[in-house]
Formats: sequence, structure tokens, C-alpha cells
Amino acid sequence: MTEIPRRGLLLVLSSPSGAGKTTLSRRLLAADPNVIMSVSVTTRAPRPGEVDGKDYHFIPQEEFARLRDRGELLEYAEVFGNFYGTPKRPVLEALQAGRDVLFDIDWQGTQQLAQAMEEDLVRIFILPPSAEELRERLIGRAQDSASTVAKRMARAADEISHWPEYDYVIVNDNLDVASAEIAAIVRAERLRRRRRTGLTQFVRRLTKSL
Ligand code: ADP
Ligand code: 5GP
Repeated sequence: MTEIPRRGLLLVLSSPSGAGKTTLSRRLLAADPNVIMSVSVTTRAPRPGEVDGKDYHFIPQEEFARLRDRGELLEYAEVFGNFYGTPKRPVLEALQAGRDVLFDIDWQGTQQLAQAMEEDLVRIFILPPSAEELRERLIGRAQDSASTVAKRMARAADEISHWPEYDYVIVNDNLDVASAEIAAIVRAERLRRRRRTGLTQFVRRLTKSL
């Protein structure tokens, strides 16, 4: 098969908390070995079942400030009173190697990423099918207290108001359908001319032998 070298892409999945971006991210990562997850640093405490270094790098506030001040974060934001940020180096290395990097970050982080590297960015916003379903998913996840669920519901409208800043919007009603839609976006975005760094050479060789 003819493999034309390409630059990787930065894939952002954003949604109000509980709409399903973690679930959809896991599915994409399991189905596509060329996609790797950007593991953020955060100052929040781990939830039950979360693994340090896999879900997040859980770090104290002072260390977060140090990374931010040294310019080692590609973007960062404060969400629900905690700080979150994306370490820069692993992302740049993956892009160069033609690997795609998946981000689970909010709209603030997405705006910063767009400023830093818009050409590489593909933004997908995930919507829940309804408010009732969003509440049920937040409760059903059983990871947060009732007051945290209420806080996240209260924040949902604000999060959702940012949907027009995204390239694609998906309604996560049926999980299989939403997963297939994300896979289709990834396939198409990989074929964009500007990402296919090997095209010039490929076409040159092709036309030479015509
Ligand atoms: P987020 O990462 O956006 O906060 P999660 O992926 O943790 O959301 O999903 C919240 C809850 O909803 C989880 O319990 C998950 O299993 C469930 N869920 C996600 N997508 C669907 C779906 N399409 N249908 C039913 N339940 C879903
Ligand atoms: P949670 O605490 O539920 O894991 O995440 C809370 C919010 O922080 C989510 O909206 C998530 O997308 C966002 N978030 C997680 N990591 C980062 C990050 O590195 N940068 C930014 N800007 N937001 C993040």
C-alpha cells in the first residue's frame, strides 16, 4: 500500500461534563493505534479508579505553577477550582512522528491550542441528546457527590454555549453511531492536503515517470 508521510493532527473532544467524551475517547484509542492520548497535569484529587500517569498526572499546585512559568504547558485552565494543563513536549514529538494526539480539554484550552497551533487542530464538540440524559449520565457515573453533579449541571449551559467554536458537533445519543462519526472525521482529516507532507515528493516522482 502506498503510504504518504503526513504530519499528525491534534484532535480535541470537548463537551459538558457527563456528555461522554471520556467514553468516546477510550473507544477511539482502542480502535486506532495511531492515536495517542495527551495526558494532562491537574491539581485536582484523583477520583476512584483513576490512575496517576494514565488519566492525569496528579500534581501539587506548586509544581503546576512551576511548569506553567517555565513555558512547559501548551495550554492551561482553571476548571471547578482546579488547574489543568497540557504538557508541551510529548505533543510536539507525536506530531512530528505523524501520530495523532487526542485531547480531553475544555473550551478555554481549545481556544489556547487554536492560537498556538491552529493548522494542526481538529475540534469536535460532543452534545448530550437531552438535559435529562445528561443528568442521568452524571448520576449513573457514580463518581461524584450530589453537589458536584449539581455544579456540573449548572455549568453545562455555559460549556455548551461554545459549540460554534468547534469544527464538528456530534450528538452522543447512540454510542456506536457517535464513535463511527468520530472515526469518519479522523479519516477525512488525515487526508487533508496540508497535512500530507510527503505529497510533493510523491507527485514529483509520479509525474516524472509519466
Ligand atoms: P465525560 O467524559 O464527558 O464527562 P463520560 O464519558 O464519563 O463523560 O460519560 C458519562 C457517563 O455516561 C458514563 O457513565 C458513560 O458510561 C455514560 N455514557 C457515555 N456515552 C453514553 C451513551 N451514548 N449512551 C449511554 N450512556 C453513555
Ligand atoms: P474532570 O475533572 O472531569 O476530569 O475535568 C474537568 C474539565 O477539565 C473537563 O471539561 C476537561 O475537559 C477539562 N480538562 C482536563 N484536562 C485539561 C487540560 O489539560 N486543559 C484544559 N484546558 N482543560 C482540561
